[in-house]
Amino acid sequence: MIEKTLFQKISDREIPASIVYEDDLCLCFKDINPQAPIHLLIVPKKPIVRICQAEVEDAQTLGHLLLTAKKVAEQEGFAETGFRTVINNGKHGGEEVPHLHLHILAGRQMNWPPG
Ligand code: AMP
Repeated sequence: MIEKTLFQKISDREIPASIVYEDDLCLCFKDINPQAPIHLLIVPKKPIVRICQAEVEDAQTLGHLLLTAKKVAEQEGFAETGFRTVINNGKHGGEEVPHLHLHILAGRQMNWPPG
């Protein structure tokens, strides 16, 4: 049997997390090591490893993650002030958890370029 990813264990309530939104396709919870006053992760329930491992059949799920960012921003009250989305892919992207996730950073002015 294939080992569950960290984020699958959170989705299955085997590891605690502060969950702010959930539907059939994805889960959104607070990052354990926040890099901004608001730092959320949106994770597909399907364990797509990273963007470079996504397939054409994942197109609906990938689009759903972005629409969920909009929904969560409205729900949590930072849609007006704005936010940043980040997806780290692979070594140079700074990816640490091999289960696709969208970072949502909000609550302060973001800088560019990122580090
Ligand atoms: P990345 O570097 O893009 O793979 O991001 C992984 C993110 O997962 C980091 O921002 C971590 O702080 C976050 N993280 C790791 N473990 C947990 C956890 N148990 N609950 C919530 N966030 C986590």
